[in-house]
Amino acid sequence: MTGFVPDEMPGFPRLQESYDLVIVGGGHAGLQAGLKAALLGHSAALLDRGPKYSRSYYAPTMDNIPGFPDGISGHKLLAAQIAAVRKVDREVGYFTPAEVMSVERTEAGPYAVAFDWLKQRRVTRGRAVILAMGVVDRMPVVGGKIDPIFPWANQAIVEFCVLCDGHTLSDRSVAVLGHDAFAVRSAIDLFHFRPASVELLTNGHPLLEGSGGAERADLERQMAERPISLHDSEIVGFDGIREHRFHVRFADGSVRQYDKGFSALGWYNMNSQIPRSLGARFDDDGFVVTDEDCRVLSDASGEVIPGLYCVGDLRNGWNQIPEAWATAERAVIHAYSWYL
Ligand SMILES: Cc1cc2nc3c(=O)[nH]c(=O)nc-3n(C[C@H](O)[C@H](O)[C@H](O)COP(=O)(O)OP(=O)(O)OC[C@H]3O[C@@H](n4cnc5c(N)ncnc54)[C@H](O)[C@@H]3O)c2cc1C
Repeated sequence: MTGFVPDEMPGFPRLQESYDLVIVGGGHAGLQAGLKAALLGHSAALLDRGPKYSRSYYAPTMDNIPGFPDGISGHKLLAAQIAAVRKVDREVGYFTPAEVMSVERTEAGPYAVAFDWLKQRRVTRGRAVILAMGVVDRMPVVGGKIDPIFPWANQAIVEFCVLCDGHTLSDRSVAVLGHDAFAVRSAIDLFHFRPASVELLTNGHPLLEGSGGAERADLERQMAERPISLHDSEIVGFDGIREHRFHVRFADGSVRQYDKGFSALGWYNMNSQIPRSLGARFDDDGFVVTDEDCRVLSDASGEVIPGLYCVGDLRNGWNQIPEAWATAERAVIHAYSWYL
């Protein structure tokens, strides 16, 4: 290696040849895994692309976080978790921005993790690996761009998660963005929270595109049982931010006004490449399948893949921060008593 060697520079964590645990992804789950590893006396490398890639980074207020009766924003909670990890830097090397490129099982390691850090390819080893890369939401595309939605999302005028934010939609008129089975199911689910009205905006796409047979018939029946209206014109822009409302402009020049938007577009990236390369099993929705201790199951045999864990949103679960924390705790405690 030539030139600048970051692991020898003051202020940067020193990269070790191997660790007890290598944690891939430093969102809510990965940060908790790093902290817990340190508290149990283990070394860990925590490799993260950066907090702004966490799903919660743009969540302005989260109401289900224990200890925060007035809610807390995603980026403040991430900052608090990062501060906790920095306090245990004797045990945990927190490498960011670091992008993990591959994870391989080897005889010596048993896992070799290759990542790009400060423009250099680095490799380290872990006796066990925790995958905590999360998933990435698909954003509404308007005029070929995703940026137009962010100001509304940042002000919680457009929500993304029924379980996180459904309770904010009571008595509100809601525009649901999406057209496929996931969007229709989301529109149906929102009725649990008694919105004033629900309208599906399909943005020029056919409703229930890609669904057929029993699923389609069932969703059409459930839609017909509820007052869900439909608007299928192409969306060209959003307005209403000053009024703290969601106004949607359409290609035909019309504008429709709602109290809130709800993006039901599913995932843009399920981060499945690394778990797939390790032989992981996925469920029908594309999430990694684990046992109760968050050990990844092999697709070929259904047995546990030794030393490999998956936590947080990437794993089949409920995509919530308390669950990200709980799965991180389960994985590290299991690794502590089993492999370490
Ligand atoms: C708008 C919005 C509002 C939400 N509100 C709530 C709420 O109110 N309450 C609640 O409980 N949950 C909420 N959630 C869900 C919550 O954000 C997720 O459940 C949580 O972020 C999952 O944590 P995670 O660690 O699994 O993934 P993330 O927090 O998404 O973190 C994944 C991390 O992995 C890193 N990463 C990915 N790939 C790589 C790679 N190859 N190499 C290195 N690093 C990588 C990324 O940089 C990122 O930091 C909300 C989500 C959204 C989108």
